[in-house]
Amino acid sequence: MFEGYKLKFYYDDQKLYEPEYHMALSEKQAKAICDKLSRHFKVWVWLGWHKNKMGIYRRSWTGKGEIWLPQGRADLGLLCHEISHAIHHQKYHKRGHNRQLRRIMDRVVGYCRKKNYWQKSPILNFLELDCAIGAQAVE
Ligand SMILES: [Zn+2]
Repeated sequence: MFEGYKLKFYYDDQKLYEPEYHMALSEKQAKAICDKLSRHFKVWVWLGWHKNKMGIYRRSWTGKGEIWLPQGRADLGLLCHEISHAIHHQKYHKRGHNRQLRRIMDRVVGYCRKKNYWQKSPILNFLELDCAIGAQAVE
């Protein structure tokens, strides 16, 4: 289903940002973080949920962005990945899994780490750490 280079990108992603990919999010937490990140990085994103186990970013008909996360198995890494696509698309007019996307992802994850979401904020729950492995991004 996935081309080789894409699989490699996801694999590297999950290694590079391992803590984030182990950090499960409830729908409420995901929405709160998604709002914070889209405000900070100045992108427009609508967040939806589906039964599929993948994360998806796509352009809406308005040219802005939609993020779809897997219901019941979202994690911070996947959310950051999709937000990175939104920034890549809306600020740089680019798409795909490449070095530029990785640099954006570094910034997004770096921002989350700097803000210590999982230490300071009640929106993240440490106890839910291990349910999200297996979720994969389509774009
Ligand atoms: Zn992707």
